[in-house]
Amino acid sequence: MLIGVLALQGAVSEHCAALDSLNISNKEVRNTEDIRDIDGLIMPGGESTTLRKLLVNANLWDFIMKSDVPIMGTCAGAILLGKSDDITFEKMDYVIDRNFYGRQIDSFEEKLEIEDYPNFRGVFIRAPAITKVGNSKPIAFCKGEIVACTDRKNMALTFHPELTNDTYFHELWLRGLQ
Ligand code: GLN
Repeated sequence: MLIGVLALQGAVSEHCAALDSLNISNKEVRNTEDIRDIDGLIMPGGESTTLRKLLVNANLWDFIMKSDVPIMGTCAGAILLGKSDDITFEKMDYVIDRNFYGRQIDSFEEKLEIEDYPNFRGVFIRAPAITKVGNSKPIAFCKGEIVACTDRKNMALTFHPELTNDTYFHELWLRGLQ
């Protein structure tokens, strides 16, 4: 299994390090050549409008739109996977509110509520929140909001799992790909 980490913006090396620690082959994805042979794609956080422009410039927007490669989107990546007030891929069935918690200064770290996994700490950086789910299943909550959901193939996280040393969500997504 080879996992691609979209390397246009954001905490790319941290996602690669999480995959390395799980002995999962991975590579950075910058163009349509890089993305051809991967079995799953991680879209890191950053800024969703900028990320969309970078994806369009790299010809990756149309490629990803047509592709059915499984995706794990974190923060800005999660915005692009769901339905937002801006143009997104809409690959998953939920509505996501950008900058739900306010500005950069309102970033925080907090324990998540996850069934059977009590100690995961989520790092929220100018984070969005999932405000409505359709065919996606919520799997983590924080302060009353949905912060993670899955449709088995794709996973959306409003926080940054690559910034903690806990690979729980990476493993959960990867398990769904096997
Ligand atoms: N709020 C940002 C956006 O609108 C996302 C922040 C992040 O990815 N850390 O894209």
